[in-house]
Amino acid sequence: MNLNDSTTTALKNDQHNCWPEAESVERFRANLAAVNARIAAACARVGRAPSEVRLLPVSKTKPAEVVRLAYAAGVRIFGENKPQEAHTKWEALCTELPDLRWSVIGHLQTNKAKLVARCASEFQALDSLRVAEALERRLQAEGRGLDVFVQVNTSGEANKYGLPPEEVAAFLRELPSFSALRVRGLMTLAVFSDDAERVRRCFVVLRELRERLRQDAPSRISLDELSMGMSGDFELAIEEGASVVRVGQAIFGARATPDSHYWPSGALETEKAKPSEDSTA
Ligand SMILES: *Cc1c(COP(=O)(O)O)cnc(C)c1O
Repeated sequence: MNLNDSTTTALKNDQHNCWPEAESVERFRANLAAVNARIAAACARVGRAPSEVRLLPVSKTKPAEVVRLAYAAGVRIFGENKPQEAHTKWEALCTELPDLRWSVIGHLQTNKAKLVARCASEFQALDSLRVAEALERRLQAEGRGLDVFVQVNTSGEANKYGLPPEEVAAFLRELPSFSALRVRGLMTLAVFSDDAERVRRCFVVLRELRERLRQDAPSRISLDELSMGMSGDFELAIEEGASVVRVGQAIFGARATPDSHYWPSGALETEKAKPSEDSTA
């Protein structure tokens, strides 16, 4: 590698080197074993049992053939950020692999609730009553239930999805009336930063919020689960109490699609900066 490359390029190449594309069942076995070993080591550091942490492999951008390889290596539930992509892969694989399940971990618009109600067994990004209502209606129609996590914005960044921590208690109080939604816990995305202490702070916020809310959680609302941590930060998340880690690149290989495609890092700011043309139209 050219040492004169900019830091960004160097970092990217670095990521590609440490996360090569997984193209065989053996490679998936090896990657899963490596991630599980890191999970076990993180657990050991804080006296937790590895069985307290569920690894959720995230297959976004990877085609159904690749999901099949990961399935052959033992994976039975996959995370997908986009409801449409989850639904497409579910359709492609549901007959062939009936025990394969899908967890939708990204923002949902009400007009996509039907897709999630049909194909997902878990939804980790609940952050509005409108979405809860849309899901409830579609789930009733499908005769299904759904495990859900409430997404919390723990970084305070305006461009992150999720409820501000101070709004979660009131939100939880509304959820028992949605009988198809089984609330399991909270989910967050930490700040994207090289500063481990800033990242850790987000995980601490989620854990402390859960401890506070647990004391008088409405009946039927369980807050046992904390979904936090991704390829770059899952060990910190485990040290702070994660029960689910959502890991894509460290298992599947680096993604070409930038993260801004999944959470609007620059997009919202651009929208705000742009003069509102449609209001004058
Ligand atoms: C893609 C994604 C992940 C996994 O990110 P990696 O960097 O691939 O580990 C975790 N959570 C959400 C919500 C995602 O969209």
